[in-house]
Amino acid sequence: MSDPDCIFCQIVAGALPAHRVHEDERTLAFMDIAPGTPGHLLVIPKAHARDVLEIGEGDLGAVVLSAQRMARRVSERLGADGVNLINSCGAAGWQTVFHLHFHVIPRYAGDPLRLPWVPEPGEPTEIAALAERLR
Ligand code: 5GP
Ligand code: ZN
Repeated sequence: MSDPDCIFCQIVAGALPAHRVHEDERTLAFMDIAPGTPGHLLVIPKAHARDVLEIGEGDLGAVVLSAQRMARRVSERLGADGVNLINSCGAAGWQTVFHLHFHVIPRYAGDPLRLPWVPEPGEPTEIAALAERLR
């Protein structure tokens, strides 16, 4: 349920400080220490789970609902024009803290955040072949 070496478990327990914004039985939302934009939050399950591959359905559902609540709140209270909900899974997927979290990143028209890749049309046969492998 809790990993003593996990910094987010320590935040849940109150052993590490954080600006807590919302909590319920299963989830906690707190401010990211290195915000991408003003109001950047993290939403986590209170019970330790490494990532989206590992977490149980009940906690995942609770985290997603809490992220929706916080997305609405940054829109209403901070005047965000849009929101990114971002989850990173695995080191190759940019995850750096291995306790599942959704980033709630308020977006403001004209803010400096940019996509980390340049979208270009893919090869249609390759897309179709990958779809077949995923069915
Ligand atoms: P990841 O890179 O795993 O998707 O996201 C980890 C996030 O946790 C980063 O945005 C980072 O700024 C944030 N973070 C790391 N350590 C702490 C901490 O001790 N307190 C808080 N509030 N955020 C943290
Ligand atoms: Zn943890």
